[in-house]
Amino acid sequence: MAPRVHPLTHLALITIRPLISYLSATGIGIVAGLIGYAVFTMNEPFAAAALVVYALAVSLTMNRFGLRQCWRWLFVSAVVVAGIGVVGFQVFGVDLLPVPLLFSGGVSLLLIQINRLWSLDRQLTRRLFNASTRNAESNAKTRLMSGLKLLNTVLPLSEAVVFRCDDSNSLEAVARFKGAAPNAQDPRRNSVWREGINLCQQAVTSGKLVSQTATGENSSTVAVPLLHESETAGVLLIRLASEFSVDDTPLLEAVSSQFARNLERESFSKSAAHTQSLSYFSQSGSRRKLDALNVLKAVTVEQRCEASTLSHIDDGVAIAYLDGTLALVNPSLLSFAGLTSEQAAKMDLFDLLHKFRTDIFDEPEIAVRRVLQTGVEYEGELNFEPKNQILNLRISLLRERLNQKDETPIGIAIHVKDLTSTKEYEKLKSDMISLMSHELRTPLTSINGFAELLTADQTIPAQAREFVSIIANESQRMSRMINTFLSVTQLQRKDKQEVLKIPLRLDEVVRETIASLQPVAKKKRIRLLEQPAHRIPPVAADKSLITQAVKNLVNNAIKYSPERTTVTVSTALEAEAVRVCVEDRGFGIPAEAKERVWDKFYRVVREGQEKDEESTGLGLSFVREVVEQHGGHVELDSVEGRGSKFSFTLPRL
Ligand code: ADP
Repeated sequence: MAPRVHPLTHLALITIRPLISYLSATGIGIVAGLIGYAVFTMNEPFAAAALVVYALAVSLTMNRFGLRQCWRWLFVSAVVVAGIGVVGFQVFGVDLLPVPLLFSGGVSLLLIQINRLWSLDRQLTRRLFNASTRNAESNAKTRLMSGLKLLNTVLPLSEAVVFRCDDSNSLEAVARFKGAAPNAQDPRRNSVWREGINLCQQAVTSGKLVSQTATGENSSTVAVPLLHESETAGVLLIRLASEFSVDDTPLLEAVSSQFARNLERESFSKSAAHTQSLSYFSQSGSRRKLDALNVLKAVTVEQRCEASTLSHIDDGVAIAYLDGTLALVNPSLLSFAGLTSEQAAKMDLFDLLHKFRTDIFDEPEIAVRRVLQTGVEYEGELNFEPKNQILNLRISLLRERLNQKDETPIGIAIHVKDLTSTKEYEKLKSDMISLMSHELRTPLTSINGFAELLTADQTIPAQAREFVSIIANESQRMSRMINTFLSVTQLQRKDKQEVLKIPLRLDEVVRETIASLQPVAKKKRIRLLEQPAHRIPPVAADKSLITQAVKNLVNNAIKYSPERTTVTVSTALEAEAVRVCVEDRGFGIPAEAKERVWDKFYRVVREGQEKDEESTGLGLSFVREVVEQHGGHVELDSVEGRGSKFSFTLPRL
């Protein structure tokens, strides 16, 4: 993908480029004419002018239309020149210079063609080098070293050296790794090194792994050719602290192909710095282009490694190019779609998506179009009743990052996840919760009912009546907890669309809640104030859920504040939302608990706080659940010992 160019640079390029091209074509025409003039050593200015004019005509026509489009015209003009020349000479006895003219025209054509090819080659070289340099940059040497370290974890290496091998098969050491106990003082070191080099030469010529075990010693030397695209890029020489086992041959051969790729990078990153402008005419320039191509091929091989990861995952994944051709379909997706790989090979993106058609996903084309137009991914839960299977399907746009800001779409990814067992577990869990809650509630109602009856019975002793009233209060508390718990779990089960939303004025909800909680506040001598804003627009919300959420916040503010303090409930209009804020001068919340207070069953432990305070740790999680289901969000601002400010926003209508 071409990098973005600044508009002014672009403007300069589109005006300057044709100008340069015409100027060079004119230059070439003049030079070709003069060459003809010089070759045929003529002494007439008229002849020079005629040759230049003809060569110019050829070069400008070639430059404008290219050889493929204008060869017929050039041929006709050559025939005409030759014909007029013959007629002129035969009939009128005048030499109209047909041969010099045709010669100059031919030279002009040749030079223009070379110039065009050269300029194309420059573009090709520049792009090839840019792409390869991006992939060869910085880490070539590091990767060679890291490969040697990895090898050391599998084989007990005394020493390992990677040699680069040039056209004349001479070796140059480019990376070296010393194992745990290299014997630097070894008097035989030089001869061992020579033997090693010999072994490497053998490996390069034979193209096969060569090993040698030192007689009477427990060590061996192995040379492995580093082959990339059937060319020997170098040799890996390793000295082992043990005898070499042939079982390790496949391992060494596999690792050495990676070394070969890294070596290509290494040698390319060294040569890439050289100038490339004359590469069309130079052998070393062409060699470097070959190196660049090898680097790109190495990248392709490594990318296959990324793609093959997908064959080992349980989720189905397919990747399609932007023309709908399928680039990859992993085995899990094939099994979800009920296809064999041969069948999938004949399909395109839409054929594949049609295999997942259901009621809610009946026109895959529309889903794909939307993803392409908006870039927002499509997600749907597909229920295949006959197969008793629930699948989650996601279609998303794959993008390539061009630079810090820009991205360009390069493909479409399909991700299919089997939700069948997760859904079964979820259903089982919620069935169990409702069953248990029901089973708990029925006996609790009896306990509470009878305990209340007994508290009213004046015939039983006072102490027993006190115990009974404790039973009554506790059983009531327990049933309230169960109710809250049930409402939170039920809410989580509901889909976003299921919440009944009607236009609702939040200032009215606040007013009603304050009125209903005034008696509770009064009991604690807390001033409960309302601070409404003017002209609050309505929001779309479920009245009973939102009222319960506000009630939870105000109740908490009263519950967690000392006597004779103030609790203020305000409403305010923000850019696109209405905010409800409950502020108290109470105990506040420690910094480390601020995030967690919204979690289910989380309660802040405070020293000296009454144990019998009714607390489930569910109130705030209910608030967050409700607010988020309405598309809003919750916020908390609190300083321990000073007070708290709980607030939430809902999108305005
Ligand atoms: P509950 O109040 O039933 O314990 P909540 O989910 O409503 O459960 O609250 C979680 C915890 O957050 C409570 O244990 C309480 O300590 C703390 N909390 C909630 N609101 C306030 C508040 N206004 N001031 C101080 N602490 C609060």
